[in-house]
Amino acid sequence: MSGLADEIEAAEAHVAALKRCAAAAPCAEVGHDWVPLGGANAGCGPDCCCSIPVHECRRCGDCDYGDNDEAIEIIRACREDPDWDAVEPDDKPS
Ligand SMILES: [Zn+2]
Ligand SMILES: [Zn+2]
Repeated sequence: MSGLADEIEAAEAHVAALKRCAAAAPCAEVGHDWVPLGGANAGCGPDCCCSIPVHECRRCGDCDYGDNDEAIEIIRACREDPDWDAVEPDDKPS
C-alpha cells in the first residue's frame, strides 16, 4: 500500500506550505522587519550626493530600495536647502 506514504508526503507538503505562510504572514500583517543593508544615492538632483538608507527584510528578504520615511525626509530636506540650485563657490558670506 502506498496510501500511507502518499499521505505523509501530502502532510509534509502541507507543513511546508504552512511554514511559508507563517514566515510571510507577519510582513503582510505588521510590516517587514527591516535591517540596514547599506546606502544608496537619493538622486534628488543632478549634483545630489545625499545618501539614503536601504533596508532588507530579515524575514522575507524583500528590499525597500530606499523607500522609507528616513529617505523621504532626507530628500525633502535636500529640496528645501536654500543652496540647492544656487551653488556659487564665491557666493559665501565671509
Ligand atoms: Zn518581509
Ligand atoms: Zn540630495
